[in-house]
Amino acid sequence: MKAKNCIVGAGLAGLTLAERLANVRGESVLLIDRRNHIGGNVYDYDDEGILVHQYGTHIFHSNEQKVWQYVNIFSRFYPYMHEVKALVDGSFVPVPFNLNSLFTLFPAAMAQEIESMLLQSFEYGSKVSILELQKHPKLAFLSQFIYEKIFLHYTLKQWQCTPQELDSSVFERVPVSISRDNRYFQDRFQGIPMQGYTKMCEKMIANPLITLKLECDYKDIADCIECERIFYSGAIDEFFDYELGELPYRSLHFDFMRFEREYFQSGAVINYPNNYDFTRIGEYKYFLDSKTPHSIVSFEYPKAWHRGEERYYPVPNEQSAAIYQAYARKANELKNVHFIGRLGEYRYYDMDKVIARALSVFENLA
Ligand SMILES: Cc1cc2nc3c(=O)[nH]c(=O)nc-3n(C[C@H](O)[C@H](O)[C@H](O)COP(=O)(O)OP(=O)(O)OC[C@H]3O[C@@H](n4cnc5c(N)ncnc54)[C@H](O)[C@@H]3O)c2cc1C
Repeated sequence: MKAKNCIVGAGLAGLTLAERLANVRGESVLLIDRRNHIGGNVYDYDDEGILVHQYGTHIFHSNEQKVWQYVNIFSRFYPYMHEVKALVDGSFVPVPFNLNSLFTLFPAAMAQEIESMLLQSFEYGSKVSILELQKHPKLAFLSQFIYEKIFLHYTLKQWQCTPQELDSSVFERVPVSISRDNRYFQDRFQGIPMQGYTKMCEKMIANPLITLKLECDYKDIADCIECERIFYSGAIDEFFDYELGELPYRSLHFDFMRFEREYFQSGAVINYPNNYDFTRIGEYKYFLDSKTPHSIVSFEYPKAWHRGEERYYPVPNEQSAAIYQAYARKANELKNVHFIGRLGEYRYYDMDKVIARALSVFENLA
């Protein structure tokens, strides 16, 4: 198999590079993926008028004008603003925790008193971490409440370890929003591709210079590929046959259910930090406001990852960082192989960040 470029993985990282190399540089690309579809984890499919995200709810959000302009070449976006609620003490409250959550969970007089204390200490509209709240003697109890009711048990389910065992950055990021803004993201650009992610991805690689091969594992064809460059968005430890150790991941199981009624729940995503074994339920029709008599939801169960299963989240801790660094050094010795994407770089990337990174890899090519 011959092409100027071989790209392993038809997720957003691989697709962005394939698109740029073919459309801008006029180069040939062999794009392979071992799954039977393109899009990687953003793949969606139509279920009688509802676009279902096979690998969990995906909301595009970005502050980067350049990335927003880029994705808009391939799709128009429905102006969806994401909100998430969590079931806490029997009430559905906005998360990240904000002043509306406060008034839903506490008696009015108490909530007013806490709100005054918050506004005396922090600017309206700011975001503070629960660690900052902890430093204020009168707000320490609120910090502890948010930690226990919203963060601790969700983390235990999601990562099967305590927050303290994870990289401190995870813990420091738990935000409290000193505002009435219920949106999950405050990014300037947010939305869902009007025809879905898969259609957007198809448009990205609609160039005869790109040859797509699905259900094709790199390892099975590595010996018969002739190319000048390889862009590899699979797992970096797998590429090197795990010779420096295995990078840990968390996996997920999605239990999809169909309900013969218009809506199942009151929003696209509801978190269950303290109840059940699943972490959240996603209801897909909210994203494009699909009008159908039925609804599709997914119950999301975190689980351990074993070789051969889908990798979802890299596990951020000191040990995994050291293993990754060792692989990254090895990767640097290979001049014609570029490791890209969430698996190639072993880090959690949002969609806009993975595209931005692929665009910069493209721009820096000799
Ligand atoms: C549950 C969940 C929800 C998310 N929600 C959001 C969200 O709301 N908003 C957001 O911005 N981001 C979200 N993300 C992140 C988003 O999914 C990623 O940014 C994006 O999908 C990463 O693209 P990628 O190309 O790096 O990886 P992937 O999409 O995983 O693509 C990699 C591809 O490589 C293929 N591959 C791997 N190894 C081989 C091999 N040896 N041979 C052939 N093919 C191979 C895989 O099959 C896969 O298709 C979410 C992630 C998860 C896990």
